[in-house]
Amino acid sequence: MLSNSKKVLIIGSGIGGLSTGIILAKLGYDVRILEKNRRAGGLLRSYTRDGFECETGVHYLGSLAKGQILDTFFTYLGVKEGIPVSRMGTNGVIDRYLFNATESNPLKFDLPEGFDAFEANLHEGFPRDTKCIQSVVAHIRDTSKQLHNLDLLFGTDNDFSLLDQAEPYGEILDSLGCSPGLRSVLAMASSWIGVAVGDCPAYYHNMALASYLSSSWRLDISGAAMADVFAKRFQNLGGTIQTGSEIDKIIVQNRIVEGVELISGERVDADIVIGAIHPQMVLKMLPDGAVKPSYRHRIQKLQNTHSIFSVHASVDATVHPEKPYNIYNVDTDPAGNITDLKFYQIRKSGRQEKSLLSILTSGHDEKWTPWKESKSGRRGNEYNSLKRDCAEQLLEEAAGVLGNFSNLKLLDVATPLTLRDWMNSPDGSTYGVLRSTGQTLATALLNRTAVKGLYLAGQNVLAPGVIGTIMGSFSTVKLILGPENFIKNVSL
Ligand SMILES: Cc1cc2nc3c(=O)[nH]c(=O)nc-3n(C[C@H](O)[C@H](O)[C@H](O)COP(=O)(O)OP(=O)(O)OC[C@H]3O[C@@H](n4cnc5c(N)ncnc54)[C@H](O)[C@@H]3O)c2cc1C
Repeated sequence: MLSNSKKVLIIGSGIGGLSTGIILAKLGYDVRILEKNRRAGGLLRSYTRDGFECETGVHYLGSLAKGQILDTFFTYLGVKEGIPVSRMGTNGVIDRYLFNATESNPLKFDLPEGFDAFEANLHEGFPRDTKCIQSVVAHIRDTSKQLHNLDLLFGTDNDFSLLDQAEPYGEILDSLGCSPGLRSVLAMASSWIGVAVGDCPAYYHNMALASYLSSSWRLDISGAAMADVFAKRFQNLGGTIQTGSEIDKIIVQNRIVEGVELISGERVDADIVIGAIHPQMVLKMLPDGAVKPSYRHRIQKLQNTHSIFSVHASVDATVHPEKPYNIYNVDTDPAGNITDLKFYQIRKSGRQEKSLLSILTSGHDEKWTPWKESKSGRRGNEYNSLKRDCAEQLLEEAAGVLGNFSNLKLLDVATPLTLRDWMNSPDGSTYGVLRSTGQTLATALLNRTAVKGLYLAGQNVLAPGVIGTIMGSFSTVKLILGPENFIKNVSL
């Protein structure tokens, strides 16, 4: 433990804020998290509708088998025992991709657990792509080793050895002569982080795919219970969480951070402030002149990932029992690029006779623009009926794929504006900053700011998803401690 009495204040209690808080509290820092919502957890936190627990930002997790990256993280953070999970893919399928046919597409592809099984399924589906498959799978295997070895945090050459593979994945596939059908299967992994395959840096694609191929898991508890495990662990280490406390301003004098001011006007002093929220939101909290115009410009210009539209409904469990795998219903263009997709999950609910159907798809922001200035719960009838129409259309399409639903009851519908207002994410962006090849430089080192003592954490600093966000937390702590102190004090 480092002996210091530095006061740290973290803005936001998502998994980014909570995991950064746990690491720093373990290291002996005095940490306080301020959260605008009534409960801690951010996107981790599920919510209850009509007695059913609806998930928000955790539908499945990768790499929780012993010694894999998320297992290592959860063990270090001290939350592993409190988060029971079930392994997916034991019947051979983690995800089933159903492609809406174009001439060049397969109709179905099953993503299995394990690299050998994945390679075998690819060869079976695309017998003419032998060379391309060998090459892409070899890279994914390499990335997997680097991922589980934590090279990004402890790499000896430099922190960015993984980042050698910065080429757009789509260009790599083109150079390998990949068929459109194979491209559409491989393109799924970049869509998980909200980037089109043509613009996705190869290492992001490979990391995302490797993390789920290594092993995939579903929570046996709700997202809210997982959030509580993180929050309790942080509090047991001496950290404090203050909910219902929206931060309005970051106080800066002579480019040194001094603390924050809440919407209520309350001032909280701190030696270190960490914004575990979107960098554009942090920027809005800074006084004029706190950062150079070039930094302000860079952050303001960052492009973000698309938003999301989600539907939760209860269905008859005898007709639709839990499916042990996820289903993606995918539209592609003739070149094999994904143009739209719907994610379906059918899980047990708390009630024996009912299953919970969850659908996620892209948000189509333009539909919701008329209500851009409105607040949650006050958007009016027209908005509510558009929401309902969109949900019903999605449910009808889902019935075409999954079979008719008997006794379906719509539980909840969330639009991009819901996510925007709940998380304070710009325009409801799902995964924050777009990790495209066009933004590689602009998104590098996002946890470092131009203000002394002010850092960023959360999904925006390194990568989205539970693994990417926690990795970002470690990298922010590394920045605060300095690489030598980090290696000396943080052993994973
Ligand atoms: C629909 C959806 C499905 C997903 N599915 C998966 C999945 O299956 N597996 C996976 O690994 N990842 C998934 N993800 C991604 C994952 O949930 C996120 O990458 C991760 O939870 C982000 O955590 P975070 O801490 O960066 O942000 P958040 O969870 O957004 O936390 C930010 C917190 O800051 C608070 N806040 C914002 N502004 C202020 C302020 N001014 N003052 C105080 N508090 C503030 C917010 O209220 C929030 O609690 C999904 C995401 C979405 C949206």
